[in-house]
Amino acid sequence: MFWAGRDSLAEMKSLGVRCGQLGIPGGMELNAGAASAWKADLGRERFTLVTVFAAYNGESYADIPTVARTVGFIPEATRRLREQRTKDLSDFAAALEVGSIACHIGCVPEDPAHPDYIAVREMVRRVCDHAAAQGQTFALETGQESADVLLRFFQDVDRPNLRINFDPANMILYGSGDPIEALRLLAPHVISVHCKDGDWPPRDVPGALGTERPLGQGAVGIERFVQTLREIGFRGTLNVEREAEDQQQRLSDMRDAVQLLNRLARR
Ligand code: MG
Repeated sequence: MFWAGRDSLAEMKSLGVRCGQLGIPGGMELNAGAASAWKADLGRERFTLVTVFAAYNGESYADIPTVARTVGFIPEATRRLREQRTKDLSDFAAALEVGSIACHIGCVPEDPAHPDYIAVREMVRRVCDHAAAQGQTFALETGQESADVLLRFFQDVDRPNLRINFDPANMILYGSGDPIEALRLLAPHVISVHCKDGDWPPRDVPGALGTERPLGQGAVGIERFVQTLREIGFRGTLNVEREAEDQQQRLSDMRDAVQLLNRLARR
């Protein structure tokens, strides 16, 4: 997984990968010019995009209450804008001939009668229908709620092109449950994965997120994660995700992660 404006395709290829997911920052223009420039670059580098990922202006991942207040479709004040932005992103992905879009929709309430739950369920249906018209799936990222809550929401949305982008580290970083159990529960709906690692939140700081770590150094148990993907019959790409601030550190950790996954995938 790499980010437009932060990473270059050449950097990604230098890590030894030839396919992956593209993250689009909230402020990036999604016009026809941007799509044709990306299409030309991808063709020249022979790089295959499997997913285009949305992030939105105004999001902050400072701690769990801030995520709940600012991320995805849940915050009411930005719903209309973010729905349009997601549809625009679907059009942009279609211009690149990418068949899957994804995002964090935010922290889904446990109560299906909650007004935010109902409004976001309707919003996800409309985004799914927009994506379906272009032959795309729309994937929800895991972790900002338990796998049970996400599964019930998923079933309630009830759209054939809805899928899940499974991120095992998020289950840990948000304290949302064991990632392997969650993967088994959500398995039939998982279209893509993030290979990311992390440690559980500190017990003595309410609302704190856990700490993201280089792949293989956190609490996920990457070997078991890859083995479980094999057991559930997952056939998609293994997308490394690393969020470290320092770009050189980030690239170096991603390079190590690619090597680790290559070793594990060969077993
Ligand atoms: Mg992720």
